Amino acid sequence: MSKFIFVLALAFGVRSFAAGLQPMPFPIVTPPSSEELMLGPLLDLHNGGQSTGAAQGKDATTWGGLIDATLLPQQGVGYVAGRRETDRWASGLMASLLINSAPLVQEKYPTTLLRIGGIAQQTGGPYKPHSSHQNGLDADIQFVGTVKYQSVLDANGVVTPLFDVEQNWFYWRLVTMQQMKVSGKVTSAVSMILVDPRIKTYLCAWAKSREAQLDALDYEVLTKLRPTEGHDDHFHLRLRCSPAYTSCIGERVPSGKRPTGCSEFDAPIVKSL
Ligand SMILES: [Zn+2]
Repeated sequence: MSKFIFVLALAFGVRSFAAGLQPMPFPIVTPPSSEELMLGPLLDLHNGGQSTGAAQGKDATTWGGLIDATLLPQQGVGYVAGRRETDRWASGLMASLLINSAPLVQEKYPTTLLRIGGIAQQTGGPYKPHSSHQNGLDADIQFVGTVKYQSVLDANGVVTPLFDVEQNWFYWRLVTMQQMKVSGKVTSAVSMILVDPRIKTYLCAWAKSREAQLDALDYEVLTKLRPTEGHDDHFHLRLRCSPAYTSCIGERVPSGKRPTGCSEFDAPIVKSL
């Protein structure tokens, strides 16, 4: 068993998960270190193209870009992506995570395909109608388990059974557990996951209802879920800059514990008199 598969098996405790793995879509020029493999077995930090600038730059000095981007194939094991090639350019970090995570979702939920929407343009930069998606570290993904691109809220803004909380949670845990070492600190490769504010509220209540079973990773997923309008038919996954991307501008790695953004879990801030 290769080291890669062995680490995966360790990470998931299910050996058969490794069976659906696809080779990387790009040649491995720089092989991962054993530490990188252990921290983020689904990630390629080095190959397949680099992100530059910011995911959501505001002007020409901070606009994001992509060098030697990877074109995500329109279909792969466990996923389908958009038809238009112009929507499917990704950093190696994002391409590796999408391609390696999809088979694991399908292994767990055999009828589910990960449905991937816009990522970035070939050389990055502003990408209408998105305000971000500039450097190949953002991907729009339909809520896991949905087959059509449609809201998972009803007309009153209530979460409907179209939203499969278990499948989405499984995926968010899978991606959030992928770690990298950035500026000497081990951190999740996921920077944030944008969902509609009403979906975040729903997830806070759902998590609270099973509080006794929550582990540290569940709490970390809650901190990643950022309530953002316009995300009721898909979620938006943003990754941090790979430490190998030398001119990438990303979110700072926070030190210490972050709030979950759920009133159910976060103590109110008491101002001293
Ligand atoms: Zn997006």
